[in-house]
Amino acid sequence: MTVENILTVDVEDWFHICGVDELIPENSWPQLESRVKINTVKILEILRQKRVKATFFVLGFVAERHPDLVKTIAREGHEIATHGYAHRRVYTMTPDTFHQDLTKAVSLISTITGCPVKGYRAPEWSIRDDSLWALDILQQEGFEYDSSMAPLPIIGNPRYLKIPYRLKLDRGHLWEFPPLVATTPLVNLPLGGGWGLRIFPYSLIKTTIRKLNNQGRPAVIFLHPREFDLDNPHIRLPLVKKFILNARLQRTEKRLDRLLEDFHFTYVSAILNKLKS
Ligand SMILES: [Zn+2]
Repeated sequence: MTVENILTVDVEDWFHICGVDELIPENSWPQLESRVKINTVKILEILRQKRVKATFFVLGFVAERHPDLVKTIAREGHEIATHGYAHRRVYTMTPDTFHQDLTKAVSLISTITGCPVKGYRAPEWSIRDDSLWALDILQQEGFEYDSSMAPLPIIGNPRYLKIPYRLKLDRGHLWEFPPLVATTPLVNLPLGGGWGLRIFPYSLIKTTIRKLNNQGRPAVIFLHPREFDLDNPHIRLPLVKKFILNARLQRTEKRLDRLLEDFHFTYVSAILNKLKS
């Protein structure tokens, strides 16, 4: 039996970078050149050619400025979920501000698509041990799934499960879809997207997905429009951020091509419906 994997895109602009509020304050965003549309269109073109449907976690800030882009993504048959409104890490918000950020994004997106929003992904995988309260808010707001808990050191917790699972909450449940990671004796490696997908050998990524699929489980891959853009505007950033954002950027498209050649992919809800049945 062929196992389908999950392809996701975080629809945000090149300047939506966590932890650099002093360098790119939120009130400067409206004046910056927006490149999210041309880069998302590149991804849509690749997916159309390969006949693959994905889940797009749209940032509310982007939906507000580019409603036509959200309509185009939905018209192509992809699933629309949300990445929150202002790209703030969950653990930096209070439950109240998180709730406001979430409902603002949901209201913008559902008005554009006419459909309810069922999935959420936090900026920088920021639902972790100190912000688990966000899961209850998502469930109470009618969300069915979340993809914000990374089984990785620093940004998440290596002890979190590495496969999709049903999270039991006080007043219900939510499905969690963690990103693909490889287990090594030392540390879990981020292979599912970002710098990890671009830097680590493709053979390691392929073997890790193959292993999961042999157990009947899907891998979760994530992409960002800025990773398809060799002309991202230059901005002074701390070295680590520079590496995370720019290392081997020219590889993204090639890596996606290889993944789409080697594996089957679909959107989150298609897998969720199978898990529920
Ligand atoms: Zn993001």
